Amino acid sequence: MAANDTPLRSSCHCGAITITVPRVPEEINLCQCTICRRYGVAWGYYVAKEVKVETKPDAVTKKYLWGDRDHSFNFCGNCGCV
Ligand SMILES: [Zn+2]
Repeated sequence: MAANDTPLRSSCHCGAITITVPRVPEEINLCQCTICRRYGVAWGYYVAKEVKVETKPDAVTKKYLWGDRDHSFNFCGNCGCV
């Protein structure tokens, strides 16, 4: 297993939502659109079936859609992490 094939696991600040991806992303997108600048995010992309999302029983996720509504920004309803 190469170093970049090590699964990465992270959670929101309150720990209600955990995401596991199979490896370091091949590219990082520092999008400078109006919303990504405000979030201060760096995006890595994966095929949806590669991403494991786990939520605690009381977790609430919220979604923000804008523009052509084909992309959503999903975040923890408790701590607000994207
Ligand atoms: Zn949270």
